[in-house]
Amino acid sequence: MVIINDYYRISSEEVVEKFNSSVEKGLTIEETNKRLNEYGKNKLPEPEKKNPILVFLSNFNNVLIYLLMVAAVITALLDHVIDAAVIFAVVIINAVIGFMQEGKAEEAINGIRKMLSLEAKVIRDGNLSKINAEDLVPGDIIEIKAGDKVPADMRILKSNNLRAEESALTGESMDSEKTSEIIENEVVIGDRNNMLFSGTLITSGKGIGIVTATGIETEIGRISKMITGVEKITTPLIEKINGFGKSLSIITIVLAIAFFAFGFFIRDYELVDMFLATVSLVVAAIPEGLPVIMTITLAVGVQKMVKRNAIIRRLPSVETLGSINVICSDKTGTLTKNEMTVSSVVTFDNTYEVTGEGYEPEGNILKNDEVADLENEKVLSFLIKTGKLCNDSDIEKRDDSLWGVVGAPTEGALITLAYKGGLNDIPEERISSLPFNSANKYMVTLNVIDGKKYLLLKGAPERVLKFSQYQLIESGVNSISREDWGKKIEGLAEKGERVIALAYKEWLDGEKLDPAEGSMDYIFLGITGIIDPPREEAMAAIQECKEAGINVKMITGDHSVTARVIAEKLGIGNGNGVLTGSEIEKMSPEELKEQVLKYDIFARTEPEHKLRLVEAIQENELLCAMTGDGVNDAPALKKANIGIAMGIKGTEVSKEAAEMVLADDNFASIVYAVEEGRTVYDNIKKNMIFMLPTNGAEMIVLMAAVLIGLTMPITPVQILWVNMVTTITLEFALIFEPMEKKVMTRPPRPKNEPILSPYLIFRTAYVALVTGLLTFGLYNIFHGNGESIAYSRTVALNMLVLAQGFYLINCRKIHDTTLGEGFFENKKIFYVIVILVIFQIMITYLPILNAFFGTVPLRSLSWIYPVAGGVLIFFLVEFEKFITGKFSKM
Ligand code: ADP
Ligand code: MG
Repeated sequence: MVIINDYYRISSEEVVEKFNSSVEKGLTIEETNKRLNEYGKNKLPEPEKKNPILVFLSNFNNVLIYLLMVAAVITALLDHVIDAAVIFAVVIINAVIGFMQEGKAEEAINGIRKMLSLEAKVIRDGNLSKINAEDLVPGDIIEIKAGDKVPADMRILKSNNLRAEESALTGESMDSEKTSEIIENEVVIGDRNNMLFSGTLITSGKGIGIVTATGIETEIGRISKMITGVEKITTPLIEKINGFGKSLSIITIVLAIAFFAFGFFIRDYELVDMFLATVSLVVAAIPEGLPVIMTITLAVGVQKMVKRNAIIRRLPSVETLGSINVICSDKTGTLTKNEMTVSSVVTFDNTYEVTGEGYEPEGNILKNDEVADLENEKVLSFLIKTGKLCNDSDIEKRDDSLWGVVGAPTEGALITLAYKGGLNDIPEERISSLPFNSANKYMVTLNVIDGKKYLLLKGAPERVLKFSQYQLIESGVNSISREDWGKKIEGLAEKGERVIALAYKEWLDGEKLDPAEGSMDYIFLGITGIIDPPREEAMAAIQECKEAGINVKMITGDHSVTARVIAEKLGIGNGNGVLTGSEIEKMSPEELKEQVLKYDIFARTEPEHKLRLVEAIQENELLCAMTGDGVNDAPALKKANIGIAMGIKGTEVSKEAAEMVLADDNFASIVYAVEEGRTVYDNIKKNMIFMLPTNGAEMIVLMAAVLIGLTMPITPVQILWVNMVTTITLEFALIFEPMEKKVMTRPPRPKNEPILSPYLIFRTAYVALVTGLLTFGLYNIFHGNGESIAYSRTVALNMLVLAQGFYLINCRKIHDTTLGEGFFENKKIFYVIVILVIFQIMITYLPILNAFFGTVPLRSLSWIYPVAGGVLIFFLVEFEKFITGKFSKM
């Protein structure tokens, strides 16, 4: 069997034959195993791992490192061998740290990508089953339907209304019709209308095809040899910070030149000393660790979101999440459990209560509190049969011995009802069907019952009523009483039940399946009320959104009364009532822009309305998240600031369009992601306000000394030491800072808010100044009291480092005091401080480090000063927070 690529030019029968397959039975399991060995997994080769040595070397590829290297060489030439060695060591240690951090962030992100694997419905050994798309082999027969992503290249064998969008391959964004017809001439890929290509999307209809190529042999595989699929771990914010870092570097270098010139020419420092001081100024000023820390913060946040079932597909959305103003959520399945149970059936003459919970087929149909006898309830039993036959779903007992639905929950409820009525085994002979869709809101099948052909209809009650002219009552058929039915429908909806109406008619030869094109003379049978309990977590999450200034809107195809009642239970709504799809349709964009803010509940909507709602919300300068699951939802998901697809019931098309996928389809997971998004942003900010002042303080110490013309209170290699030990300890701790209790009590962050507000710039300057002065001051006090330069420098060095240790604790909260609740929550803070102290004891007392860094052992009493200085800084910052907190409340 040779793989060719012009299967489109031979008949479908011939293709099946060439692959030794069979349309009905598929391949045998044995054969598929053999072929899997021969052709390999159906996946594209992972982008080649970058050579770790190159990755390591790339860490040396930055201006700062070059500068340090040059400095090391010059220092060596100037006979300062020890200083040169220290500089080299620092450069290498920094590169190692960078290398490890980069690997960590990348690993975290890649793991998440793998979670979104693709499944395929395949026929093997005559059975239809779902398998991982990676296990497909050439010759497999697969079923495909609207919303799917094509898992391999395939030749179409059967199609029904099938259309596919192939922009991934051809760049053409319009979808095109797909059939099984043979094409005689050679044509380009975009015109091979009897083929489906891996990675493209099915936009409507369904079909069956045979796999002709897998993995790297597919058309997309051929292309992907040219593209490397690795997405860089970055977001606009990180880019901005990178840019900020670059401008800072330039400013620093200009400053450094001036500093050098001033020191050398005006203050007459030695060339070597001044050169080294300048290099250390540059090292002190550039926050080289910042971009890496940001990236890791982002990766840690994304991982936390995954643990809570929110999978981020595009990293920049992590930032957007924190600014979301409006969340538009589907009702069914996202705010509710999607565990549907029929609780009542209403015919023209009677009302029946149905007992039992969930899909479990245990329970009774009661009439006036007694079990109804279906032999005598003609209308009821025909209604239940219609619900069973006009149905594409089923229920099954799961491994955990709970009953679940295979297919649509609404339909599963009707199957359970049939079991409860003992009508689950009725013979079924279906000729054709028109499946349910959210735009039409009904489904029709053509069945043979007792030798006669009937059209069976079920759907939203208004639609079904519109198609009905008669009704079935106990005494026979008469013309329909629309008003009575209207009241009965409202009655069920008032209880928050999802209402489904059922109707039937005898099929006239040649009659179209779609009642909208047919004779509209159905016989109405009655309605069922289905309960779908709200998710408890969703209620709590909605409450949380209210406090967080996020507006939650509910969107549903359900009846407006049902929608209102469920919304009330959930805590959604502002008392302004419900806006319906048909009302939206009548509005101009300007009107909708205004109205969209008034309403929180949208009912009887169609998927297209979601796009209009997103646009209207965005017109109001608000950022909007929108959920969706179907093919028709994709445009709205793309347009929304955060499109959210459902991991369980969502189509591949919707996932492809989304920024985020919910593994559990649960509204609460969205809110968690928002919380985490806000936390990531907070932690990025905290890292900045931690790192900038510490760099600032080091600069102030050096510049103050040169300006005044004193000996440097701290030597260049000591500055390098400070940078190194804080990088491997303190800078890691804030990444893990847990969510602040308050994250969800403040309004969303304005979307263009600069990361450093004027207030935070003030904070940075304040801390830098205090720390710088303390360090500078202590050096001079000690030296003034007759201590040696080395001794005074050792005190100053410890002051500088301990100040950072204490200030780290301040930074755990931006505006509030760190003292109090949650003080011990992030233990890493204290671990790193302990490690830092050990480092300081080592540099102070270990003779070898003394030799390298020019430090000397301190008498224990001398420690009082740097420790007291650190405590002072801590309280000064807490005091400042307190004062500004008071002022900002005035
Ligand atoms: P939702 O936004 O709640 O998911 P849908 O668009 O799925 O709304 O459903 C809208 C209405 O269509 C429901 O209230 C119900 O009356 C009807 N309906 C839902 N599912 C089916 C189905 N499988 N067959 C027929 N009618 C259905
Ligand atoms: Mg639905």
